[in-house]
Amino acid sequence: MQLDGKIALITGGGSGIGRETAVLFANHGAKIAIADLNPKGGQETVQIITQTGGQAIFVQTDVSQAAQVENMVNAVVGAYGRLDIAFNNAGIEGHTDRTVDVTETEFDQIMAVNVKGVWLCLKYQIPQMIAQGGGAIVNTASVAGLVGTHSMPVYGASKHAVIGLTKSAALEYARKGIRINAVCPSVIRTPMVERGFVEFPQFVEATKRINPMRRLGEPIEVAEAVLWLCSDAASFVNGTALTIDGGFTAQ
Ligand code: NAD
Repeated sequence: MQLDGKIALITGGGSGIGRETAVLFANHGAKIAIADLNPKGGQETVQIITQTGGQAIFVQTDVSQAAQVENMVNAVVGAYGRLDIAFNNAGIEGHTDRTVDVTETEFDQIMAVNVKGVWLCLKYQIPQMIAQGGGAIVNTASVAGLVGTHSMPVYGASKHAVIGLTKSAALEYARKGIRINAVCPSVIRTPMVERGFVEFPQFVEATKRINPMRRLGEPIEVAEAVLWLCSDAASFVNGTALTIDGGFTAQ
């Protein structure tokens, strides 16, 4: 699963799953571009990679803004000459609210980042990959994209939409040498989840109890799956939504 010389762009690479995947990609020979809204987190990931001899740049990007996403892809191609791998992973969770209590503002924010953001990334990455003859893209969905999630209705809707975008785009560009897949993690121990556990400490044990493996997932366990999907080892895997959930959705 080596990525020697490949150019990999990771959105949301300044934290959690994105950072872990960026570091794993770099350890497997890829040159990395981190895109994140948060410059501090993004620069930290770049530092982690360069300190261990890897190559990485940071492009500050709000994935919900078309001009910024276009600039992100141009910056990567400007710096490295091409774009082989994209991990469209930036996302927000929003607040925990039942369907009727969600505000319109919150609905729009979650959809803007989680759905429009992934669509904009595809919109600007795919033409570059077509021009250079192929590539591999992975979008971060969630188990919340496969089953209902109590009190996170808009987040769940956004992740169902990510799977829909992934499958449609995978069909459209299969003959252009581009594979497009999604990953569907269950609860993974990242800053996003730690924020929720601070608000609702009782959810830590409850989350473990409802998973067949009786634990949370670790970011590296998602990163390893993304590495495989982006590598030539997964050369016939296209349009899939791969669960990384300890069996949660098998119940
Ligand atoms: P995280 O909060 O640790 O990291 C998310 C990163 O995305 C942050 O660095 C943040 O600055 C960045 N980001 C947020 N909005 C952005 C925007 N508009 N433009 C660019 N960057 C932006 O979260 P994480 O747990 O690592 O989540 C990564 C992805 O995995 C998300 O899409 C999330 O929905 C998904 N996911 C997480 C879990 C989990 O349990 N942690 C489970 C399933 C899916």
